[in-house]
Amino acid sequence: METDLLKRYEDIVNPHVVKQLRRLAEPLRGKKIVHINSTKEGGGVAEILHKMIPLMNSLGLEASWEIIEGNPDFYKCTKTFHNALQGLSEGPGEDLLRVYEETNKKAAKKFGGLLGDADFVFIHDPQPAAFFNMIPKKKGKWIWRCHIDVSKPNRSVWRYMRKWVSDYHASIFSLPDFALPLPHRQYIIPPSIDPLSDKNKEIPAEDIIEVMNKFNVDPVKPIILQVSRFDKFKDPIGVINSYRIASKQVPLQLILAGGGASDDPEGAEILKQVKLAAEDDPNIFILDLPPDAHLTINALQRAADIVLQKSIKEGFGLTVTEAMWKRKPVIGGDAGGIRLQVINHYTGFLVRSPEGAALRIRYLLHHRDKLQEMGNRAHRLVTENFLLTRHLRDYLSLMISLNNDQKGSIRLYE
Ligand code: UDP
Repeated sequence: METDLLKRYEDIVNPHVVKQLRRLAEPLRGKKIVHINSTKEGGGVAEILHKMIPLMNSLGLEASWEIIEGNPDFYKCTKTFHNALQGLSEGPGEDLLRVYEETNKKAAKKFGGLLGDADFVFIHDPQPAAFFNMIPKKKGKWIWRCHIDVSKPNRSVWRYMRKWVSDYHASIFSLPDFALPLPHRQYIIPPSIDPLSDKNKEIPAEDIIEVMNKFNVDPVKPIILQVSRFDKFKDPIGVINSYRIASKQVPLQLILAGGGASDDPEGAEILKQVKLAAEDDPNIFILDLPPDAHLTINALQRAADIVLQKSIKEGFGLTVTEAMWKRKPVIGGDAGGIRLQVINHYTGFLVRSPEGAALRIRYLLHHRDKLQEMGNRAHRLVTENFLLTRHLRDYLSLMISLNNDQKGSIRLYE
């Protein structure tokens, strides 16, 4: 039963939180909400939508999720957008821009009826951003939800993208640092994890041991772990360098677990570079996992002593949240959404170099009490700020605030 789904959260968050969700959803019951992104598998956006849609529906909303698909040139173009919006100097050429626009036009035609009729449309990231101008008849409110670290975007690519997103009714960014000059309301809403998902639920100790055995990882020797797509902004080579420096003084194993996303064409090349950099070190485990390896990732995150997310740019970093939920201190790159989660010296450490990361790895392994303390604080921070229920509350509030016909007030407390 759908409503049972919501009830299950009462065991994790205060029942009050669930009651608030029901009240906020009341004026939105029956509203049609469509989310569009570019992949059902791989990466944080898909991870969230898989959980957000059923939860919205359990509250009586009519939420659905579609994806825009294209040929390899389309993904090449949108990955170049992604890289440029995160600060790289190179944008796509004219040919790729035409492919982008044509693909959006085709998909807008395909979903035109659904989107035209929706009360709220959430367009995620640049891939389907041009839809808005390509659907002539639309009755609802349109929201551009940007998940990328756009703190210092490439100017010319942002100028191009702004042309497509300016007319939306609102946009959402994960951090105040990412807000951009746009002529509409901007909301700051950080992402979240689902504590009930296979990725995050409690699992028996035997399952963790089984995963260690499967990959021949020594369960006794300390483990550091980074889980991410093989992407240059996640700095996997920097992680290997950090491990190399730290392992000169402490016995250590490094697990780099990743996989591809169907909208990310650069993963294979980065994976090749990572394997080369690992130089067949028997204490480095490079795991190229299928997109549904949620229980495996859950076990790896629980088995790790310390989790790294050494990103150079990071929209939010769900992998950070996932690790913190499992009471792991995170050593994270001092970038984007990691700063929101890793409170330096409190829930983990922010670092800017492999040397810095190695120093913190050694410190935590030598101070197990601190490691535990930081992990517990990390768990608390996630419980209070980064669970799906808070995320949904923010989305509901946003929809109510955009709905002009909404009159009166909603009582959230008794
Ligand atoms: N993930 C996964 N398999 C992988 C790599 C990542 O399931 O091989 C998941 C990871 O657990 C997290 C999400 O994909 O839930 C990545 O989100 P994040 O915000 O960390 O990074 P993004 O890939 O969106 O940049």
